[in-house]
Amino acid sequence: MNWRTELQLTDIGEGERLEVTCRICGHTRYEDPQELAQRPGLEFSYLDEAEAQLICHRRGCRGAVRLALSMETETEGFIGGLA
Ligand SMILES: [Zn+2]
Repeated sequence: MNWRTELQLTDIGEGERLEVTCRICGHTRYEDPQELAQRPGLEFSYLDEAEAQLICHRRGCRGAVRLALSMETETEGFIGGLA
């Protein structure tokens, strides 16, 4: 199973955030999936599609990014399932 292609932004529960890491410079930021889903073109995006549309926010970089789920509260079983 590939969670990136099976999960939509709107499937992600409250309290979970997306970790957005630049593939070029390594800059990391966090996005609220529900907030991302409000953006034009991202409403029904799967995570791989959102990943393709997001870019690094660092000034002058604009590199492609990698998405990862980040839990506010650790749930060991679920994290283990993703590994
Ligand atoms: Zn960057």
